[in-house]
Amino acid sequence: MKSYNKITRLLIAIVVIALPLLSSSYLSANSNSLMDQQVSEYLSKKKGEQVLLLKQLVNINSGTLNIDGVINVGKLLEPEFQAAGFSTHWVDLPAYMQRAGTLVAERKGSSGKKLLLIGHLDTVFPKDSPFQKFTRTGKFATGPGVIDNKGGIVVILYALKALQSINALKNTDITIVLTGDEENNGKPVTISRQHLISMAKSADIVLDFEPTVSGSASVGRRGTTHWLIEASGHEGHSSIIFSDQVGAGATFELARILDELRRTMNDEQGLTINPSTVVAGVKASYDKDTGIGNVFGRTNLIAKTAIARGDIRYISEKQRHRLITKMTKITQKSLPGTKTNLQLEQVLPPMPTTQDSLNLFESYSIISKRLGYGEIALLPAELRGGGDISYVAPYVSTALVGIGASGEGEHSPLEKVDIDSLFIRSQLAALLILELTGP
Ligand SMILES: [Zn+2]
Repeated sequence: MKSYNKITRLLIAIVVIALPLLSSSYLSANSNSLMDQQVSEYLSKKKGEQVLLLKQLVNINSGTLNIDGVINVGKLLEPEFQAAGFSTHWVDLPAYMQRAGTLVAERKGSSGKKLLLIGHLDTVFPKDSPFQKFTRTGKFATGPGVIDNKGGIVVILYALKALQSINALKNTDITIVLTGDEENNGKPVTISRQHLISMAKSADIVLDFEPTVSGSASVGRRGTTHWLIEASGHEGHSSIIFSDQVGAGATFELARILDELRRTMNDEQGLTINPSTVVAGVKASYDKDTGIGNVFGRTNLIAKTAIARGDIRYISEKQRHRLITKMTKITQKSLPGTKTNLQLEQVLPPMPTTQDSLNLFESYSIISKRLGYGEIALLPAELRGGGDISYVAPYVSTALVGIGASGEGEHSPLEKVDIDSLFIRSQLAALLILELTGP
């Protein structure tokens, strides 16, 4: 009897301890599924509206240099963000940059993490591009900027609207920065990216809504450095090339350098080097800003000048330093009668992968699994180009990249969006933001 009593008391104790545990886990699972359902219902009802807004945004040309167009895209969005409970303002860039500036939408609070959401208003398609209109064909739609990045913007907007509809934005601290010159930054970038960087410094987490690549997301991006190699040699008649008098000529010197670069660098993981343009002749010049080269030469003359221009992309500052050391050595070797000048300019720092970013990615993937979309694949940094996220990466420990609309063909007249992805990515973004900003 005594022992029975003991067991009974123990059982009661277990039940008393376990009940609140059971009910709290039940409740949180239940509140997850309730929130999931409410967000999904809201977004489902707004599918038509979301696509219509995307269409309107795409049909306004906003090539980076079409300042009025970029501003008009922003103007269409301002009341939308205001209706979702955000205050909006423009951050202008100095007039000499000839860029539209940046649209900021924000709300202040103290619940959970401070978030910075990044997108851009401009596209690579200028005002006179033949590719101007949104065209829907079944499950897809084509149009300039339809995923890069107007699809991403409507994903941000509707994720926030969905959260507002369930009163989940209360006391959150969220800033949305939509730059007007992502595709062709105002120079110098130390000034055109200054505001973005200062906002990133005060954020805990950055979410970047550039296009989703094949259902994946990433937590790193490669850095980019532009280079220009100019080889000079002696002018002379072709018949005396390789003589002590004139040497090898500038073209052979440049060819040697490019080939050595290819052979020494093509097997390093995460690293690419691409000579995009070459001009060589008795007279040769190249304008870095316009990309236009001028050249004069004859079959019987040795080239005096040979210029190559291109970029290198790398996953870390360490890799960049290693590469630059190699490039410097290779260019300094010089064939007889030639000398070479190497110019380097880092245009984008690399975004290193951190453990905090990997954890954030994991949370995103868990939400996707919970909603029945399966695990999200982690896209290696080398499969993504640079972007605005890269400028802020050195100041942020936690970031998730490429969670905007899905599709393909960005930067080409084949750019298209998978319409369903607007709904899915908005759902995922809303629930991730909810989790991050929760008390
Ligand atoms: Zn983009």
